[in-house]
Amino acid sequence: PKYVYAFAEGHKDLKDLLGGKGANLAEMTNMGLAVPPGFTITTAACRAFLATGIQPPELDDQVDRHLDALQTAAGRRLGDPDDPLLVSVRSGAVFSMPGMMETVLDVGLNDSSVLGLARAAGDDRFAWDSYRRLVQMFGTTVLGIDGAHFDAVFDAAKLARGTADDLGLDADDLRGVVGAYQAVVRERSGREFPQDPREQLDLTVRAVFGSWNAPRAITYRRRERIPADLGTAVTVQAMVFGNLGPDSGSGVAFTRDPATGEPGVYGDYLAHAQGEDVVAGIRNTLPLSELERLDPVSHRDLLANMATLERHYRDLCDIEFTIERGRLWMLQTRVGKRTAGAAFVIACQLVDDGLIDADEALRRVTGAQLVRLMFPRFAPDAATTVLAVGMNASPGAATGAAVFDSPTAVARAAAGEDVILVRRETNPDDLAGMIAAKGVLTGRGGRTSHAAVVARGMGRTCVCGAEDLDVDVDARKIVGPGGVMVAEGDLLSIDGSTGEVFLGAVPVVASPVMEYFEGSLDPASPEAGELVRAVHRLMEHADTTRRLAVYANADTGADAARARRFGADGIGLCRTEHMFLGDRREQVERLVLADTDAERDAALAELLPLQRADFIEVFTAMQGLPVTIRLLDPPLHEFLPDLTELSVRVALAEERGRVDAADVRLLAAVRRLHEENPMFGLRGVRLGIVVPGLFGMQVRAIAQAAATLRRNGVEVRPEIMVPLVGAVQELQAVAEETSAVLADEAERHGVELDAAIGTMIELPRAALTAGQIAESAEFFSFGTNDLTQTTWGFSRDDVEGAFFSRYLERGIFGTSPFETLDIDGVGRLIRIAAREGRATRPDIRLGVCGEHGGDPDSIHFFHHEGLDYVSCSPFRVPVARLESARAAL
Ligand code: ADP
Ligand code: MG
Ligand code: MG
Repeated sequence: PKYVYAFAEGHKDLKDLLGGKGANLAEMTNMGLAVPPGFTITTAACRAFLATGIQPPELDDQVDRHLDALQTAAGRRLGDPDDPLLVSVRSGAVFSMPGMMETVLDVGLNDSSVLGLARAAGDDRFAWDSYRRLVQMFGTTVLGIDGAHFDAVFDAAKLARGTADDLGLDADDLRGVVGAYQAVVRERSGREFPQDPREQLDLTVRAVFGSWNAPRAITYRRRERIPADLGTAVTVQAMVFGNLGPDSGSGVAFTRDPATGEPGVYGDYLAHAQGEDVVAGIRNTLPLSELERLDPVSHRDLLANMATLERHYRDLCDIEFTIERGRLWMLQTRVGKRTAGAAFVIACQLVDDGLIDADEALRRVTGAQLVRLMFPRFAPDAATTVLAVGMNASPGAATGAAVFDSPTAVARAAAGEDVILVRRETNPDDLAGMIAAKGVLTGRGGRTSHAAVVARGMGRTCVCGAEDLDVDVDARKIVGPGGVMVAEGDLLSIDGSTGEVFLGAVPVVASPVMEYFEGSLDPASPEAGELVRAVHRLMEHADTTRRLAVYANADTGADAARARRFGADGIGLCRTEHMFLGDRREQVERLVLADTDAERDAALAELLPLQRADFIEVFTAMQGLPVTIRLLDPPLHEFLPDLTELSVRVALAEERGRVDAADVRLLAAVRRLHEENPMFGLRGVRLGIVVPGLFGMQVRAIAQAAATLRRNGVEVRPEIMVPLVGAVQELQAVAEETSAVLADEAERHGVELDAAIGTMIELPRAALTAGQIAESAEFFSFGTNDLTQTTWGFSRDDVEGAFFSRYLERGIFGTSPFETLDIDGVGRLIRIAAREGRATRPDIRLGVCGEHGGDPDSIHFFHHEGLDYVSCSPFRVPVARLESARAAL
C-alpha cells in the first residue's frame, strides 16, 4: 500500500489518512501558498506499526523516494556537512489532540553538519541554537528523558551569563549547552545522541507513532470520545528558520476573534524564535499589528494568505507561520476552534459575506453550544483565583458558602444564605441539600455520577470529579493544590460550563441569550448585541427548516407560558400528579381510605374543581395549541405518608395509650399499598382500572375546562394520554370511559368536545403490540425514560451511582442511555412501534416525551424515523428547535 504522500498528492479531505495537519499542508501547497516542501506518512502506517511493533516493510523504500524528492526540491541534502537540509517530524491526528502528541524540529543536525549550517547561514549562534533544540526535543520525545534535566542545564547557562532570556546566550554558550545536553543523553539513556541523520529521522518517526499510545493521549481520547484505533500521521517537512535573527520569527494567528467572532485578524508574533517559543511564554510576544511595523511586506502577505484561506475554507481558520529573513512561510492551518458565542456570530457573518448559505450556517452551530449560551456566566477578573478544574457536569455559574452536608445546606439556605454543597460524591440522601444549594461540587465521580445526573435533572449547577481537591467531610474542609484550605462557610464559585472552581465570589453576568428567549430582550433593539441577533436569525431559519414539531413538558400555567416564550408548538406532556400534592393531600388520603363508593365519589368530587382550575390555566396559556394531558401515573402511595414514619408515630401513640383512629386506618392503607418495586407496580393505566372513577374525574375536569373556555371563545386543543399501557385491552377500557365522559360533558355544556385519545409507549410489550394498540390510540407518545428502564431492566434512580461509571469506563456505554437514546435497543422498539402503528392507523401521530426529546443525537434519530414531534423541558425547547432543523438539512 501507499504509505507516503508528497504534499502535492494530498488534499484537505484526506484527514483520515494524512491527519488534519498533513491534509491541510497538502491543501495549502496545492493552493499555491508558500509551504516548505515535505511529505506525510499515513495513519495506516502508524496503525500497522502499532499492531506489529515493527514498521511495515514497504515504508523504508517509500520514505527513501520521497526524501530524495524533498532533497531535490529543497536543493539540500540531509546531513550534508556544508549546507545540510534539516526537517521537522510532526505528529498529526485526525482529531486535534492539543499538546498530546509529539513534534521534533531541526532533525538532521550533528556535530559536523552544525558547522556547515553555521557557515551556510553565516550565523554561528543560529546553528548552535538549532542544535540544542534538536538534542532536547529528541532526548525527551524519542529517548523519553525527563525534560527537567535539560531545563536545569539551560537555566544554569543563563544564570552563568546573568541573563533571563534565551537571546542573552551567544554561540559559545549554546555550544556549551549542546555538549552538556549530549552528556545528559548519555547519562540518562545510556546511549550517544545519534549522529546519523537518517537514524535520527527513523527513530523520531517511530517515536511519534508510539506517542499515540502515551498514557496522557489515551486518557485524553477517552475523555473526548475519540476512537482509540485511528493512529497518527507523521509529516516530514523541510525546516524554515524563525531563529535566524531579528528579521525572522514565528507566530500564530486567527482570521477572526475566536472568543467573540469579531472580524479582524488576531495573533501573536515573536521575533528571533522557533517553533513553540511563541506559545511557550519564554519571552513577551507582540500582537500581529506590531508585525506591520517590523516587516510590512511579510505582514501584508500574511493578511492576504489569511483572506485566501478563509475564502477557501469558508470558515474561521487558525494558522501557524514562520518568517525567515523577511520571507513568509505557512506551517499549519485548520478550521479554528471557537467559543459557543463566536460560533453563532461567525456563522451569520459568513452568510453576510456570501461565503455560506443559511443552511450551512445552521450546520456550523450546535444545540450543545446553544445550551452553553443560555446560562449566566462568570466574568473572572484579575483578582480571581482558580482553585481546581473538575468536570463540567451541569452548566451555570454559582457562588456560595461551602457546606459539607445536606442538613447544613438546608439550614443555611433556609436562613437566606447561598451555599455550595461540597461532597466527595453525592448519594440519594443528599437530595435535599442539592435542592437547597446554588451549586454542587464533588471531588470524585464523572459526568454520570449521582451528583451530575441529579444536578442536570434539576438544572442545578454542578462541577464533579475535581480530583485535585481533597474533600474532608468530617473535618469540614477542602485541601486544594499547594495546601490551600477552604473551610465551612468560605465562599466558593463554581462554573458548571467549564468545570472551574474559584476561590471567593466571582462577578456574574446574566445571559443575554436567555433574556432573549424569555422575551425581555428584543433582538431588534440596540441593546441586543451581535450575539443575540445571530441567535435570533439562526433560530428563525431553524423554525422554517425543521419538520419535527417541538412541544414542551409543562404542568402549570407558568411552565406553559414559558414554553410558549421559548417557542414550543404545544405541550407534549402535562403531568397531573402535582395536582395531587400540597394542600390536596387530604383529598387524596380520603380517596385512598374510602370504604364505600359514596365516600370515594365524594373525595373525587372534591378533587374535580381543583384539577379543572389547573387545566384552565394551562389551556389559556397555550391559546389553542395542542395540550397533551397524561392521566395520573405514579402509584398512590407516593401521595401518602412514609410507611416507616407513620409506623413509628402510631407505635408511639399506642405506647402513650393515645391511639389515633385515623392514623391507624391510614397506616393500614399505606401497608396495603406498599410495593417492593413500585416502578413495576400499581401505577398508570393499572391505577385507572383499579380505582373506579379516578380517570373519569380527570377527564371530566379536562372536559369542563375546555368547555368553559370554548364557550368564552378561547380556543383549546386537549389531548388525553394514557400512561403505562401494555395491552390494547387496557387502553380500550379507559378510552371507552373517556369517550363517555366527553360526550356527557359536551351535551351538558352544549359545545363540541373533541379530544384525541392516545397512549404512551413505555413498555416493550406496548411497542411490540403497537399494531393492536393503534386501534384504540389516535397518537403514540414514546415515553423514552421508562422505555429505557423497562428495555434494559434497570431503574434510573438506582444505577447511576452503582455501576454506570464503570460501564462508561469500560466502554460498554458510550454515553448514558438516559441521556442519549440507545438506538440499537430502545430505538429498535420505537421503529417497530412506529411502523406497526402506522400500518393500523396511517394518520397516527407519533411523538416523544422524556429527556431524549431535548437531546441532540436522539432528536436526529427521531427526525430520521419520521416522528411528528418531540417534547422536552421548556428550557430545552430552543435546543430541540435548532437540532431538529439541523437533522432536516
Ligand atoms: P503541534 O501539533 O503541537 O502544534 P507542530 O507540528 O505544529 O506541533 O509543530 C509545532 C511548531 O513547530 C509549529 O507551530 C512551527 O512553529 C514549528 N515547526 C514545525 N515544522 C516546522 C518547519 N518545517 N519549519 C519551521 N518550523 C516548524
Ligand atoms: Mg504543540
Ligand atoms: Mg501546530
